[in-house]
Amino acid sequence: MLRIAARTDQGRIRHNNEDNFYVREDRGLLVVADGMGGHASGEVASRLAVDVIRDYFDDAEGEKPFVGDFDDRCQETTNRLGAAIRLANMAIHEAAQGNPKYAGMGTTVAAVLIQGNRMGIAHVGDSRVYLARAGDLSQLTDDHSLVAEQVKRELISPEEALAAENRNILTRALGIVPEVKVDLGEMTLADGDRVLLCSDGLSTMVTDEDMLAVLEQAADVEAACETLVQMANDHGGRDNVTVVLAEIRQRRGLVGSLWSILTSWFRR
Ligand code: CA
Repeated sequence: MLRIAARTDQGRIRHNNEDNFYVREDRGLLVVADGMGGHASGEVASRLAVDVIRDYFDDAEGEKPFVGDFDDRCQETTNRLGAAIRLANMAIHEAAQGNPKYAGMGTTVAAVLIQGNRMGIAHVGDSRVYLARAGDLSQLTDDHSLVAEQVKRELISPEEALAAENRNILTRALGIVPEVKVDLGEMTLADGDRVLLCSDGLSTMVTDEDMLAVLEQAADVEAACETLVQMANDHGGRDNVTVVLAEIRQRRGLVGSLWSILTSWFRR
């Protein structure tokens, strides 16, 4: 069972919100996209990304083509998530080519598919997926950004990366070139795990320690999302901020059911 909450906010400085997200609980599909480009085209790019991925997993839309190469290390569902993102890349690239107003627009994307205790992860850019488990926060995605590459090569420290002027320069994004490489991963989830997807408006404004504290202490996923967005804004809110959070509950016994009825009653 998944408990999911999501929140997006334009922050304290920006006049528009170029982030978008999509959540489909019965499919365990969670998506965050952070758009960029002039004339508010970033909004268009991130909207296109979440819409194409949404439609890809919508049965009513019919069977979808598989786009790109199949990654043998991952299950079919995770490969389909990768295919949906490659299709989104093509759609954004075509839209950008077809309209001067949209020239150069692009977007990040971070997406997960949670089915049972398995999670498939796919991403492009610097939107992130984190896992909070048993008092630890781990980042499950590697940023496709200039500073992340420099940290990997030990040219700068993680602290220098956070303070770097050019930290928002991406080395990979959707919409820029006709074909994009999507990073895929998979893992097994445990009861009580919390999976957080976010745009860099959260990860550049809130430390990992603070993020973990909120994920551990918040009353529920809704409260956690609200607090994280509030924290990003309290720390300056320099960017749009989006958080999508899923909590995994695998125990469904009688005691668990009674407990959830009681807690939902007292929360009214
Ligand atoms: Ca951003």
